Formats: sequence, C-alpha cells, structure tokens
Amino acid sequence: MTTVVLATGNAGKLGEFRSCFEGLDVRFLSLKEIGFEGDIVEDGKTFRANAEIKARAVASFLDRNPDRAATVDAVLADDSGLEVAALGGAPGIHTARFAGPGATNSSNIDKLLRCLEGAADRRARFVCTLCLLRRRGGSWSAPEFRDGACEGTILEAREGEGGFGYDPVFRPEGRDVSFALMDGAEKDRISHRGRAIQALRALLGV
Ligand code: IMP
Repeated sequence: MTTVVLATGNAGKLGEFRSCFEGLDVRFLSLKEIGFEGDIVEDGKTFRANAEIKARAVASFLDRNPDRAATVDAVLADDSGLEVAALGGAPGIHTARFAGPGATNSSNIDKLLRCLEGAADRRARFVCTLCLLRRRGGSWSAPEFRDGACEGTILEAREGEGGFGYDPVFRPEGRDVSFALMDGAEKDRISHRGRAIQALRALLGV
C-alpha cells in the first residue's frame, strides 16, 4: 500500500482523488489527518510553481515531524483553475480568489457570470497540475508533474448542486449538462483532474 498525503484543504478535491483510486493500493491522507495546520502562500506564477510550493510546504512539515513522515511514501499537490477565453485566460492561477479576499465558491461564480454577461464567446478550459514528491530513504525526490485539461463553456446560470467550486457553471465539451449534474465517476472520466490522475496512475504504476 502506498500512502500519499494530499496537500489540500479542499474536500472536493480529496473526494475525487479517493474515488479515482478506489480499489487500488494507494491511500490518501488529508492535511488534517497528518496534523498540518495553517495556510500555504501560493505566490507562484504558474500552476506548476504553485503545485510545487504546496507539495514542498507539506514535505517540510513532515521533515519536522519524523514520526509521521515514517508512514508516508509521497506528497501530492493539485493546483487547478479555470481559463476563460473571453477574459484572456483569467482567472487562471487566481481562480480560487477570483472574487477577492474571502472569496467563496458562490461569490466566485457570481463574479464570473457578471464578467461574462452578454458575452457570445463563453469558451473556457479547466486545467489541473499535479506535483508528486516521493520520499526515499528519508529525503524527497525531485518533483514530478502531470497535467490534465478539460475544454468546455461557461453557462449563463448555475445548473445543479453536485461537485464543488465552479462545477455548476461549467459544461464540458460534448456534454449537455454541467459538471454539477454529472455523477462523480462520469466527471472523473473526462475532467482536468481525472485526466491528470490517469497520468499519475501510470507514474505510480497502479
Ligand atoms: P487551488 O485549490 O488553489 O488549486 O484552486 C483551485 C480553484 O479552481 C478553486 O476555486 C476551485 O474551486 C476551482 N476548481 C478546481 N478544480 C475544479 C473542479 O473540478 N470543479 C470546479 N471548480 C474547480
């Protein structure tokens, strides 16, 4: 069994990782489960930079807590976001804080819908970068990255209540409902995260 700490406080992301690896020899621990508290400042300029910042913050926490580190095989971070064509690729790395400090899923969606009011071009893409640090002989491997993307459009209003984040307003290409109306397994098959996880599975050999 490979034990991986997922460097996120986002329960939606954690749930997707756990369901994508169901039945496989990989278990995911949350930050809470390893006793990690506090915020990680994501001041990188790219998804990869921010994924690495998160993974390294958790790895150095484990270095300071060797008892916990001894039970961990790897740290994995997910940095993801939305690139909207009519907004020149924004919000991009700022997706989580699009509506400003204290942003919530709901205020972020409200701002996005306002920005696109009346826009004919509603194309958008979700992207996800994973950064894996493996622990070998008490030190950490060089970071390994895997990416995934999912093309789609931003709806004019929320549709459905499932999923998390921007799911109610994102409709993936080739489907006629939002991510929030799909069952989890169907989202995992086509989503940015699902695709990055496919590539990660190959990396982990599972
Ligand atoms: P991060 O946690 O710093 O990577 O920020 C990710 C941002 O993108 C958050 O606002 C998430 O809600 C949003 N996001 C990432 N993946 C998804 C998804 O699968 N569905 C909806 N929103 C997502």
